[in-house]
Amino acid sequence: MSALIRLSNLTVAYERHPAVHHVSGSFAEGSLTAIAGPNGAGKSTLLKAIVGELRPAEGSIDRGTLMRNDFGYLPQAADIVRRFPISVADTVMLGAWKNAGAFGQFSRKDAERAREALDLVGLSGFERRHIGSLSAGQFQRVLFARLLLQDARVILLDEPFTAIDQRTTRDLLDIVLRWSREGRTVIAVLHDFEQVRAYFPETLLIARELVGWGRTQDVMSATNLIRARAMAERWDMEADECSADDVESEGGLVKREPAE
Ligand code: ADP
Ligand code: MG
Repeated sequence: MSALIRLSNLTVAYERHPAVHHVSGSFAEGSLTAIAGPNGAGKSTLLKAIVGELRPAEGSIDRGTLMRNDFGYLPQAADIVRRFPISVADTVMLGAWKNAGAFGQFSRKDAERAREALDLVGLSGFERRHIGSLSAGQFQRVLFARLLLQDARVILLDEPFTAIDQRTTRDLLDIVLRWSREGRTVIAVLHDFEQVRAYFPETLLIARELVGWGRTQDVMSATNLIRARAMAERWDMEADECSADDVESEGGLVKREPAE
């Protein structure tokens, strides 16, 4: 299979603190990849860089002929605001914006596809509900319906099943597997290792630096998982030292309060 997205020595930083460090490798066209790693490992940062929301501080991402519209991206739930006074149907229709005409008109066909998408995620009859009134699982179903409508070649999901009930997880996982069967390239950040092993042939294991990237059974070895955890513990300790350094580096002007 050919490489669809290639990362070369990719570093992504906030201010000057790298969250993703020197990552190289590629996602093959049609591959189904889990991204795993400890909290703060740079998983969300990596997805944001791939969709183009964050720029590399170093290295590059080669997306070949892919355009912005070719990416369907579902951010981590915490990043999604749900207080807009918008209906289920309108939220799903936003997935069709790239098809909308010059005056932002959606076609009857889009409306029909939106109905089909809602049906597929099990939310027929919810069209007029306000999104703020939905449960977490129902809202995630709406966002999947929107992705269905978007019909993207590459689908990136950031912890799509965290804090979602089991039944919804099963239903939405089916949709992920269907996308994969359709030949789409799917990349999902997941924290459930059993799920990763059972359904995702490829895994990218990261702890700021790459720990492993390849076949899931090879990458998710006990050795690699221990290594990822050790790397996370190291940066937690470094963060403590760093913040003390920062106070000093601001010059002698910052007076430290004596510890009580
Ligand atoms: P993960 O998704 O693996 O838990 P993230 O990519 O969210 O990790 O974060 C990686 C690191 O970058 C963490 O140390 C986090 O605190 C930091 N970080 C994430 N987002 C920002 C931001 N907007 N500004 C500054 N630092 C951030
Ligand atoms: Mg994250």
